[in-house]
Amino acid sequence: MKAAVYRGVNRIEYEDVPVPEIGPDEILVRIAACGLCQSDIKKILYPLYEPPRIFGHEMAGVIERAGPDVQACRPGDRVAVMHHIPCLRCGCCLREDYSLCKMFKELTTTAGFIPSGGGFAQFIRVPGHIVRHGVIPIPGNVSFEEATFVEPVNCCLKAVRKAGVAAGDRVLVVGAGPMGLLFVQILKFLGAVPFVSEPLAARRDKALELGVEGTFDPSESRFAEALRDATGGLGPDLVLLAVPHLRACECAFSSARPGGKILFFAEFPEEVSIPVRPNLLYRSEITLLGSYSSSFKLQGLSADIVFNRRINVRALLSREFPLARLAEAVDLALHPAKDTLKIVIRPWPGWVQQLVCE
Ligand SMILES: [Zn+2]
Ligand SMILES: [Zn+2]
Repeated sequence: MKAAVYRGVNRIEYEDVPVPEIGPDEILVRIAACGLCQSDIKKILYPLYEPPRIFGHEMAGVIERAGPDVQACRPGDRVAVMHHIPCLRCGCCLREDYSLCKMFKELTTTAGFIPSGGGFAQFIRVPGHIVRHGVIPIPGNVSFEEATFVEPVNCCLKAVRKAGVAAGDRVLVVGAGPMGLLFVQILKFLGAVPFVSEPLAARRDKALELGVEGTFDPSESRFAEALRDATGGLGPDLVLLAVPHLRACECAFSSARPGGKILFFAEFPEEVSIPVRPNLLYRSEITLLGSYSSSFKLQGLSADIVFNRRINVRALLSREFPLARLAEAVDLALHPAKDTLKIVIRPWPGWVQQLVCE
């Protein structure tokens, strides 16, 4: 089969690799679509992980083969596959800190080499605990591309839950890329009042189209004042950092209201550190939070939101690339055109899906 293999910093090779062998409680999934995530781009551009690896984790496809012990699903099923499922019995899992579970991080889906998701390949092997808890059937009227959003929606939901967002909360989303715009829609779905700060005009317009309360250009001198005016004179209750830039951090620290929260959502390069004025925590009682990956508990809600179109993920789909052109897709995501939002990788060019109805 074909795979786009990470061979070192900013080196992706389109290669032939063996189709993974499956065990008795495992399945082999033919990947129809895999979303390109900001975290994949980080893993490709920074020396965070030892090569060779096959990344890609926002996956949807069809079950090709199932081992004899598999009960939950069968060949031919259209499925979204979670790449991370916790063990559900370690100390972290019992505290519902699922993303800190060792099994969650290490025992993931794979297309070969050190398990790393594997969605940027034509087939993946799904380990038994994920077959049992992380394979979600896709309704017949939902496309594979839409289904790739189940995982990122879960990550967003986990973050806003962690920040304790309540209806009516004013939330500033820093960065209106595909994740930021997903946050905007989820915040609205939860009854919160989202704003975005984003330097690209086309993305601010898109946020307005999706119902954001207000948009700000962080390069404008009146930015801080305009944001305070729009948020009751104090600033937002929560700032969600959806881009890994130092400027964005500064923006978050200077704009959260006294007593407000800042949540780090984007992954920064390992060597980055940020200076924090202790009095921001002490005198202004700002709470700093972080949220990594998805929550096992929010899987059902995430699937419901995407499959029943409670938010408009289709508005975020911008371009598809064949697997052979993954490097080009990464480059486009880094240097977005006016209309670039979510990019989806299609490992099988020409695979046309038949939907039950739109
Ligand atoms: Zn992702
Ligand atoms: Zn665990």
